[in-house]
Amino acid sequence: MTLEIIDLHVEVDGKEIIKGITVTFHHGKIHALMGPNGSGKSTLAHAIIGHPRYKITKGRILLDGEDITFAKPTLRARKGLFLSFQYPPDIPGVTIRNFLRTAVNNLRDEDTKYSVVAFQQLLKEKMAELAIDPSFANRYVNDGLSGGEKKRLEMLQLAMLEPKYGILDEPDSGTDVDALKIIAEVINKIKRSKGTGFLLITHYNKILKHLEPDEVLVLVKGQMTDVGNAELADYIESNGYAKYLSPREGSS
Ligand code: ADP
Ligand code: MG
Repeated sequence: MTLEIIDLHVEVDGKEIIKGITVTFHHGKIHALMGPNGSGKSTLAHAIIGHPRYKITKGRILLDGEDITFAKPTLRARKGLFLSFQYPPDIPGVTIRNFLRTAVNNLRDEDTKYSVVAFQQLLKEKMAELAIDPSFANRYVNDGLSGGEKKRLEMLQLAMLEPKYGILDEPDSGTDVDALKIIAEVINKIKRSKGTGFLLITHYNKILKHLEPDEVLVLVKGQMTDVGNAELADYIESNGYAKYLSPREGSS
């Protein structure tokens, strides 16, 4: 099973950001996507999940062989795509429990939706697995949550939704070493138990130390510029992106 991106071109506000990308993501594998700031990593993620602001002008996206290039985001989610945001929106007034129940039930058919009681049981189990304090479910979504707590919520979402393909946009940004380890653990666990395939966007190599990526891709100026294994991420950690940029850009 695969998530295939074929010659994808994406425009934001009339400007082409993704300039013809072809890449295949596999079920049960971790594909790390690296690249300098502004290279189009988040744009690619948003285009894959169908954010309306990101216009696909050419190319195709196939989810397990089915063309979803122009499918609505909700349909993509129902087919098993999940995107965690680099900058999650603040939703005051909605508890984490209700937010998650809505998210999980939205992906289920009418006759398989969780009741309040059944959902509570599931949530309790997942939170225990992730060593999250039960009172966390009563907090409001992102309202006053610390950076680390927002990441924990993302991981809880991931564990609750168990997607076929998870797109994580810089899950390691602004986290300390302990949070990083928890994030890596959750990713590894869901990959093993559910066979979820991951597109893991990361600017740095830190999280990859805990994960063993099956493939490391380098996106520069909207194009896939390099591909390799974990050694490539090590190389980038030591040397930065200079070799992919013109000499003037590389030194800045
Ligand atoms: P990365 O995630 O690799 O740092 P982005 O995909 O966020 O890169 O951005 C790539 C380019 O697209 C940048 O030049 C950025 O300014 C532009 N861009 C991305 N999203 C938007 C947006 N919503 N509105 C305007 N420009 C955007
Ligand atoms: Mg980004």
